[in-house]
Amino acid sequence: MASPAVQKRANVVVSRVVPVVLLGAVIYATYAITKPLCIDYLIDPTSSHHRGPRVGAGAAILAVYYVLLIPMVGTYIRLYLTVLWNPGNLPQGEEKLADDEKRKRSKRSKRWRGKIGTPKSDAEKISQADADVERGSNTTAVGSSDQTDVSLASFYTKNVFVCQEDGRPQWCSKCCQLKPDRAHHCRETRRCVRKMDHFCPWVGGVVSETSFKFFLQFVFYTAVFCSFTLIVFAFFTAEIKRDTGGVNPHWCVCIGLSGLFGFFTAGMTSTSLQMASINVTTIENLSRHKTVWTLAVRVPEYLLERLWAPDSPWAPTFRMVSYPPQQVPSSETQPDMANTPTGERHVFAILHTKPGENPFDLGSPIKNLQQVMGYSVLDWLLPIKPSPCTDHSSMESHFAMGPVVTRLRQEAGLLVAPPENGAVPKSPHSGRSHEGSLSSQ
Ligand SMILES: [Zn+2]
Repeated sequence: MASPAVQKRANVVVSRVVPVVLLGAVIYATYAITKPLCIDYLIDPTSSHHRGPRVGAGAAILAVYYVLLIPMVGTYIRLYLTVLWNPGNLPQGEEKLADDEKRKRSKRSKRWRGKIGTPKSDAEKISQADADVERGSNTTAVGSSDQTDVSLASFYTKNVFVCQEDGRPQWCSKCCQLKPDRAHHCRETRRCVRKMDHFCPWVGGVVSETSFKFFLQFVFYTAVFCSFTLIVFAFFTAEIKRDTGGVNPHWCVCIGLSGLFGFFTAGMTSTSLQMASINVTTIENLSRHKTVWTLAVRVPEYLLERLWAPDSPWAPTFRMVSYPPQQVPSSETQPDMANTPTGERHVFAILHTKPGENPFDLGSPIKNLQQVMGYSVLDWLLPIKPSPCTDHSSMESHFAMGPVVTRLRQEAGLLVAPPENGAVPKSPHSGRSHEGSLSSQ
């Protein structure tokens, strides 16, 4: 098995070569269908074919071929440019950028001095990663001007986000940055990518939330295109074999190419559609049946007032975390926190899904597909508008969440209606002991 570094390099090389190979294959197929098949065999047959002209058939095949070619090439260009210019990368943390700069400088100075440094031990690396997590949760809580989209506030100002066991957002120790829901670190590009699906050599980069729709359209249109060319070339190859006993080598090559690409793209269309219909990415799908999602779900203000009332009979059955971290309440300061003006205090219940449950599954295949493809037929067919799931402006969560989260809220007692007259309503947890703890770290 090749080392990760070799594999990574191989992936990058393949990603540069494959687009050129694809372009060559399309140009070759276009030549083979236009000249040897439609012109020289059907429309104006050469004397060696011993057949009369079939202008209608030739023109119809050419027309269908070019009509199918346009969406395939169009979606590929849209996909390629999106992967190139808008891959969905998250910004790297300030520390990562500073580390990179430091490493570059030390490399230059080592080269100059002719010295070789001692590599860090694994233990050093691990303790460094832990320290990064600590630093990250503090530095990003303040928020830097150019990284506002992954500041701590971008998590706790939403009602639900994916978190670690202690309620902090997930952290990438390689990018030194907080990871929004469904973000994944790509080892080929060395960046965290929003809703990364997979690294795709076909398009020379990462297929993510910004490009998955165009990827799906491309593999679908390519499968249709390849099926058509396969049928046409196979039909006329059989005919010419019957008539003359020979075959046209160009047509045979095209049968091989369209069979190969058609088989792969049809398979990819089917699996991609399947995964989009249950709202998982290729990466999430690998551990789909055993993943337990840990979610920070905001506790409504009116429930907090009830919770922190001095003689409250209401006891939460979950751990909690409070944001922003500077306003951490201890057990003594809880009553003060209860008086903090609304909007400044964000308290979350830390809840867990059952293994295999997907909080992002909206409950119906169509609703899940709409998150990727859009809401109209034109959105589904044309590679123009970005996927609705790329819009993270909702105050509810980074990605739309489904019935699993509703059930978790219900089970945790967070769906109790707010009191109409300000009175504390009777809690579903009355009489239980306080099992929850309020934590911030
Ligand atoms: Zn990362």
